[in-house]
Amino acid sequence: MTDPRSQPENKRIASIKWQLENRQAILAAIVDSSEDAIISKTLQGYITTWNVGATRIFGYTQEEMIGKHISKLIPERYMPEEEYIIARIAGGHKVEHIETIRRTRNGREIPVSLTISPIKDGEGNIIGASKIARDISAQRDAIGRQTLLAAIIDSSGDAIISKNREGIITSWNLGAQKIFGYSQEEVLGKHITLLIPESFRAEEEYIIGCILRGDRVDHFQTVRLTKTGDEVPVSITVSPIMDKMGNIIGASKIVRDISSLVSETQELQKLNEAKDEFIGIASHELKTPLTSIKAYMQVLERKLSDNPIMPFIGKTLQQVNKLSVLIDDLLDVSKIQAGRMQLAYTHFDINHLIREVTEAFAQMDKHEIVFDTPMDTPIIINADRQRIEQVLINMVSNASKYSPNGSRIIIKSRIEGLHLVVSVQDFGIGIDAAEQQKIFTRFYRAEGLAPMYSGLGIGLYISAEIIARHHGQMYVDSELGKGSVFSFKIPPGK
Ligand code: ADP
Repeated sequence: MTDPRSQPENKRIASIKWQLENRQAILAAIVDSSEDAIISKTLQGYITTWNVGATRIFGYTQEEMIGKHISKLIPERYMPEEEYIIARIAGGHKVEHIETIRRTRNGREIPVSLTISPIKDGEGNIIGASKIARDISAQRDAIGRQTLLAAIIDSSGDAIISKNREGIITSWNLGAQKIFGYSQEEVLGKHITLLIPESFRAEEEYIIGCILRGDRVDHFQTVRLTKTGDEVPVSITVSPIMDKMGNIIGASKIVRDISSLVSETQELQKLNEAKDEFIGIASHELKTPLTSIKAYMQVLERKLSDNPIMPFIGKTLQQVNKLSVLIDDLLDVSKIQAGRMQLAYTHFDINHLIREVTEAFAQMDKHEIVFDTPMDTPIIINADRQRIEQVLINMVSNASKYSPNGSRIIIKSRIEGLHLVVSVQDFGIGIDAAEQQKIFTRFYRAEGLAPMYSGLGIGLYISAEIIARHHGQMYVDSELGKGSVFSFKIPPGK
């Protein structure tokens, strides 16, 4: 019986024999398949071998280089370095991964990484050197790009911070140092909560939740803590960082210090408050003498009822009343601002109130004011009668004021589901769609309004506020040039 191992064993021996016979060819093939330049030279610097990689990197062919001096590849200013390398090799040492510059056939200088080892003969004498040169231009480009990015990041006034999935800070730019006061060394490796005030910690969990889902958090306004323990108002944008496979490995944060913005807003708020306070005081002060004027005028009106100056007294009283309404409106604005507008609820018939208002207007207004709900259909509601009347007057007087050529004003009241809806329609100048929401804000008047439409721009603001206090809503449906329908709806109450 033959040994079962003998056949494979024979094969192995045959293979070793083949390898020994072809050793040089195999080595040459390995050397030539390398991406790197593999060159050998004598101790005097004359090139003895030159592989395909060397041709690819330096551009010279083997024929051009064998026997030539290595200095052909070395820019003049790098010659001292070469002398140092030769000295090391002659001393039997290896020189590893020196990053330096070499010159190609067309004169271009390229960054290379060199590893050089001594070549010894059979007796151990050093007879030359073998050199592996790797072209590191691509790496350099990447480093260049990185340096550029780093420079951009550092020139940013914002803090640019990255952290890993666990919340550990992994990068920290100059902006971050400026805003938070910590140097890079002080924070790298620390947890991000270092910057988050105790009472804002829950917020960080929300942000982490978004990031882990792969979402970005944009312009999140919050407060952060500096090294000195001061709180800074900031706006934060956080984006997930993903690896090549798309796994979320951390987050990058851009933090902008918005202290100046916040103080500007506070300043504006203060100014606004001062203005409101002034309006409150001024209208209050104006109201007292006006009330006296009105009382005296009413006495005159009674006493001089047959006198020819009577019409003037009547006109004066009308103007005094207008002034008194304006001042009341201003007082209402400051009441609303201070949260002091009280409502006095009573039960009343809204249709009856609408009829009263309609009749009062009909006496002095040129428009035909239509409210054709039958007398015997009361709608009893529980609301502040005087305030609802104020809203109705504002709606009808606007309908009249802003429809100088319109002839009709139509008022409707109805129950819609759980709400009472009252609307006032005019066929006047209408309101541009873009302005329809703005007109309910304080002091806002439609743009380009002709000067003949006088007003302060507070009537709708007060009306909308009164309706809101009744848990209702005020709205408009309008088309520029065609007219408007202003409506309010409120729960009728019990
Ligand atoms: P004022 O009438 O004093 O300006 P309001 O608060 O009552 O103040 O109205 C705000 C603005 O809304 C008006 O300046 C006007 O531009 C617009 N507006 C209100 N009612 C009407 C309407 N019926 N038709 C057209 N525009 C209107």
